[in-house]
Amino acid sequence: MDSTPIKIDPTHADLSDPLRAYRDRFELPEGVIYLDGNSLGALPKTVRQRVAKTICEEWGEQLIRSWNTADWVHLPQRVGKKIARLIGAQDGTVVAADSTSINLFKVLSAALDLNPGRSKIISERDNFPTDLYIAEGVAKQIGKGHRLILADAPKDIPGMLDDDVAVLMLTHVNYRNGYRHDMAALTRAAHDMGILVIWDLAHTAGAMPVDLTGAGADFAIGCGYKYLNGGPGAPAFLYVNPRHHGGFRQPLSGWFGHRAPFDFDSAYAPSGGIEQYLCGTPPVLAMVAMDEAMSLWDDVDMEAVRTKSVALCDFFIQEIDKFAEDLGLTLVTPRDPGLRGSQVSYSCDNGYAIMQALIARGVIGDFRAPDIIRFGMTPLYLSFAEVGQAAAVLKEILETRAWDAPEYQVRGAVT
Ligand SMILES: *Cc1c(COP(=O)(O)O)cnc(C)c1O
Repeated sequence: MDSTPIKIDPTHADLSDPLRAYRDRFELPEGVIYLDGNSLGALPKTVRQRVAKTICEEWGEQLIRSWNTADWVHLPQRVGKKIARLIGAQDGTVVAADSTSINLFKVLSAALDLNPGRSKIISERDNFPTDLYIAEGVAKQIGKGHRLILADAPKDIPGMLDDDVAVLMLTHVNYRNGYRHDMAALTRAAHDMGILVIWDLAHTAGAMPVDLTGAGADFAIGCGYKYLNGGPGAPAFLYVNPRHHGGFRQPLSGWFGHRAPFDFDSAYAPSGGIEQYLCGTPPVLAMVAMDEAMSLWDDVDMEAVRTKSVALCDFFIQEIDKFAEDLGLTLVTPRDPGLRGSQVSYSCDNGYAIMQALIARGVIGDFRAPDIIRFGMTPLYLSFAEVGQAAAVLKEILETRAWDAPEYQVRGAVT
């Protein structure tokens, strides 16, 4: 490629970064450049004390009284309210609960129930596998012959929407290549055909502003442990457009979705609101960590997050453009910021070993089979200097073939 003109100067960009004070609110180990916050967000400093307080005081001393005195019982709604602001959702339309996979099971079941007489679920072959597995499972469970039909490319989706499609189920930002769908346009196209839309915001929430209300989305789900920094295995979230509240069936009809759980009635009577999407007792320790992590977002300007995210990605691409072609890297993330999320991915040979060599040098990204090395950009705690440094380390590893050592070839259970 021709030499790209330098557009971003890292020193200047760091000095004029309106978000730079946030880094100090995270615990990050010395000597690590963390480019995997899209997979497991870093630890916000106050989470440590808050979880300790919950364990020592609320659990240790107050015992069962804390369900009321510390309001443990409403953590799913309280956390949901904090997430709602980041995704353009109204109060009372988001809860934190369960995992993304389980929440997809709930909302997809509800969506199919709301759109009877249609047989197709449309998604993408390149969607995150759990979303596809859950859709297959839901279709089998319902047993009415629903079929999951997969688009091979985003451009094929509009042409696949017809009056036999019940649900369009997409991940807003692709986990592998970072491609981002036009949420408003696809939702509109689907609604024009009477199709309900589910958006998976796993790689969107906390990475950029989202406007679920403006887009008219029917349902959304997403992870707590990625850009939201809720901790490993953090509770996930789900959104339901208020026009569907009360009008659906959610098959995991546990007591926390009941109108009055502590009436201990023997018959299920749904709450009628977003609570109907809760199933059982929330995991309080994980919810408290998530709640504390979310409080960090209270004063964050999501437009500033997006602006910095775009610049970090642009800068990383700019630095890697200088050697990508010579050293065997192919950019698979769109160059156009309008078409991407907050990550940069390259395909290459020996990607797994290259990533292990990077991690050994303190540059933590991840590898996604078969051949993708992936770098997540988290504007709250990354600097332009670090991103430039990461590009330099990658260049050095490729030039010296440092990745070609036996210890970098052994795959762990998690890549
Ligand atoms: C990370 C991710 C998930 C993870 O689901 P879990 O139930 O938390 O394991 C699901 N969908 C997408 C699109 C993801 O990126």
